Amino acid sequence: MQRKHFLQWAGLTLGGAVVGVGLSACGGGDIAEEAIPMKSGTMLSEHEIEGLYFMREEEKLAHDVYVALFARWGSKVFNNIAQSERQHTEAVRLRILAHGLADPAANTPAGVFMNAELQALYNQLVAQGQGSLIDALKVGCLIEEKDIRDIEDQKSLVLNEPDILAVYDNLLCGSRNHLRAFNQQLVAQGGSYAAQVISQAEWNAIANSAQERCGG
Ligand code: MN
Ligand code: MN
Repeated sequence: MQRKHFLQWAGLTLGGAVVGVGLSACGGGDIAEEAIPMKSGTMLSEHEIEGLYFMREEEKLAHDVYVALFARWGSKVFNNIAQSERQHTEAVRLRILAHGLADPAANTPAGVFMNAELQALYNQLVAQGQGSLIDALKVGCLIEEKDIRDIEDQKSLVLNEPDILAVYDNLLCGSRNHLRAFNQQLVAQGGSYAAQVISQAEWNAIANSAQERCGG
């Protein structure tokens, strides 16, 4: 079994006490992992926790940017996809709570992020989408390809948490559909998009394939 670096977490007082009992009973020997009574999945690796926090806010970023661009352009694609992003960020929030963690976006209004990198990205992308509808649709394309890359990166850091992997797979499926929708609208407006985050080959493969039904 792959060992994880367990974080001391606020909700783990009970687990800590039981480990203490185990220690004295066994004379301080190596504690078998199965002897630690943990709610399966309560203890995540640092990477898994940071990944959940990042994806919670990145999905919120997608939602908040699309709401802002819908207000600017009134193009339905932004409103429709914003609703999907609301479900995505909510799905990550529920995984965060299920694992006994605190939601980083519990107290942040639209357009505000705890992660400084995502805050800067939000500001940049909303500004970038103001000039024309084509610019705004390109922002959508960029968010979706970045989302795909970031979710794939986070998936690779998840060791053994099927619930988190299932949510990430669902987010990925949604992102591919969003990429297709934005690309289609962009082409309809006479624009075109060159991949900036994923490879052009991967972009083409997604953009030129059919919309998928994403599991819930
Ligand atoms: Mn999403
Ligand atoms: Mn999306």
